[in-house]
Amino acid sequence: MQPFELITANTIPDAVKAQASSTTAQQGAPVRYIAGGTNLVDFMKLNVETPKQLIDINGLSLDKVEQMPDSSVRIGALARNSDVANHALIKEHFPVLSQAILSGASTQLRNMASTAGNLLQKTRCVYYRDTASACNKRQPGSGCAAIGGHNRMLAILGTSDHCIASNPSDQNVALAALGATIHITGLKGERSVPISEFYLLPGNTPQNETVLAPGDLVTHVSVPLLPAGTRTGYLKLRDRASYEFALASAAVAVKLNGGRIEFVRVALGGVGTVPWRSHEAEKALQGKAPTPENFRAAAVAAMHGARPQSQNGFKVELAKRCLTHALTQVTQQA
Ligand code: SF4
Repeated sequence: MQPFELITANTIPDAVKAQASSTTAQQGAPVRYIAGGTNLVDFMKLNVETPKQLIDINGLSLDKVEQMPDSSVRIGALARNSDVANHALIKEHFPVLSQAILSGASTQLRNMASTAGNLLQKTRCVYYRDTASACNKRQPGSGCAAIGGHNRMLAILGTSDHCIASNPSDQNVALAALGATIHITGLKGERSVPISEFYLLPGNTPQNETVLAPGDLVTHVSVPLLPAGTRTGYLKLRDRASYEFALASAAVAVKLNGGRIEFVRVALGGVGTVPWRSHEAEKALQGKAPTPENFRAAAVAAMHGARPQSQNGFKVELAKRCLTHALTQVTQQA
């Protein structure tokens, strides 16, 4: 690990001003925010991240989970994953988010990890973590060792010829299904970005993962209430039962009315370069009866455009079965 300076931000404007001296908000920035540190410090130990300065933002009052006058739920950027997953408002209105968070990492990590840190969680691609390997995301223009290399865990949707890294988060998949909005304060003031526009596909510039600019600080996430009667759930398939990343996962929200699907949201994890909202699956399900055949047809639609690599072709069928099973579970809830 490289030496670094640690400073403490007492206000949001102070934090934004200090981080804005970086030329990028992405990986490799010389000034980085730190909250729980469960992801960033790992990468600093590996010299993948070598910031000259860390800005400790834990003193900013951004750790609350609360219901707003418009009934949406506001989750502070510094709310710890454990606190969010176990919060009464989240368990009541968004069980899918609680389940997704609790399916990830370990209790100790969830106690430290923050909501915004989880939003910005880095890929588990092994080459990204190895500074001796070619990796366009870590070192633009150096190549992608994963294409033709070890890519069993990596993405099949949203990939490019420059990067096939999967987004590793469970929380983000649930937030994508819930249509969350990310609230940001930057040098030019405050702005709000739908989660569907927050993440960037890798394209030719996989080093740019989000719309965040230098200085931008995620302050909170807002989640609108679902229509009354909507049931939600998260299903995660992985190599072992705990402390493991998804091979495929599905976050679903379904409301039935008169034996038909009146409202539906679908997002997939483990298979996309970004948390993968599947409008194809939603379109296939809208207005249909909740039958195994219709669920399977939606799962097939969800995999439209999938581009498997040498070792992860199994994910296409796995993701289909994961989504089919998640929809079955949610629609059979009492
Ligand atoms: Fe790097 Fe992306 Fe290729 Fe992995 S998949 S080696 S993160 S460029």
